[in-house]
Amino acid sequence: MTDSRWAWVEVDLEAIRHNVKALSGLTPEGTRFMAVVKADGYGHGAVDVSRAAMQAGASHLGVGTVDEAAQLRGAGIRAPIVLLSEPPETTVERLIDLDVTPALFTREFAGALSRAAVARGTTAGYHLKLDTGMNRVGVRAESAHEFAAVLSEFPGLRLEGTFTHFATADVPGDWDLASQLKRFKSALQAMRDERVDPGIVHAANSAATILAPETHFDMVRCGISIYGLHPGDSTPSQVDLVPAMSVKARATQVKRIGIGEGVSYGLTWHAGAPATIATLPLGYADGLHRVLSNRMQVLGGGRRLPQVGRICMDQILVECGRYAELERGSELVVVGSQGTETITLDEIAALSGTINYEMACSFGMRLERIYR
Ligand SMILES: *Cc1c(COP(=O)(O)O)cnc(C)c1O
Repeated sequence: MTDSRWAWVEVDLEAIRHNVKALSGLTPEGTRFMAVVKADGYGHGAVDVSRAAMQAGASHLGVGTVDEAAQLRGAGIRAPIVLLSEPPETTVERLIDLDVTPALFTREFAGALSRAAVARGTTAGYHLKLDTGMNRVGVRAESAHEFAAVLSEFPGLRLEGTFTHFATADVPGDWDLASQLKRFKSALQAMRDERVDPGIVHAANSAATILAPETHFDMVRCGISIYGLHPGDSTPSQVDLVPAMSVKARATQVKRIGIGEGVSYGLTWHAGAPATIATLPLGYADGLHRVLSNRMQVLGGGRRLPQVGRICMDQILVECGRYAELERGSELVVVGSQGTETITLDEIAALSGTINYEMACSFGMRLERIYR
């Protein structure tokens, strides 16, 4: 429980360490491991997750924005940080000052980074991003060797790694993944033929790390799986992951209402019998999407209880049932276990019409975190 609020996220750092070790165990000895901690560690807190992941053997950290990298450096984290997409040119000085390695795939950015490095009498490392078929960002694989050869003439640049990203890694044996992998390997060969050393070669996200060993190369990049969440339906049978995030709250009020009375905005739920209603102090501004109204359940007294009425910005209501002996201050579980019952992030993601990735990020928006 936090001092300021009866709603909080608990993050089990031992689970993070367990997951990093379990995932590393799937890769050959010596394979580097990037812990992807973008979006504040998928809502789990980037700084604490980074430290735990590094304790468990992660060599690199992956972020999505320059500010995320700055936060890690500000906390004293010295590990190599890779910015997974190319930021605007206006950030080049900051990247060099922070010693952050950006993904790179345009001439414009390459020129700006090189000039800034030369002006400081140094060189800036970068990871070349290849587009092998996802068509999101990257140099087209067929022209990567030419681009890399041009960049090798830039005095301020140092190629430290070459990578790509898969669109369909969560589907075992997928043909599109095989095709992306083939284009990636051809591009690497063409780079080597041009006498360009691609540096650390990496491609696998969580799904590919678990399902496609042929994609491991020199480093894997795991995000969702280090948090103990599975990237798809095919991975749970392959590796044992422990979810790190729980979401909990204490009842701010428990009251009896009469038959026929409604609750919350719009009075969308009415008591079919006299009912006990508990109020929890978290809502859609904390990640409980409003679409979950009258659909989700929470755990109280070791039982599943229905959430009733519309979800508000800061509060939700729960029907306690006839037997629950809940009172003001009782602890209820929104995500996690109580007694023999468990509500997973996957369960509430499915009810929200989304994936565990988005659900975890949502709970990172406003709730305070406690680390165990
Ligand atoms: C987010 C991201 C990852 C991690 O993906 P998961 O599915 O969470 O493991 C890996 N690589 C890149 C380029 C990413 O943007």
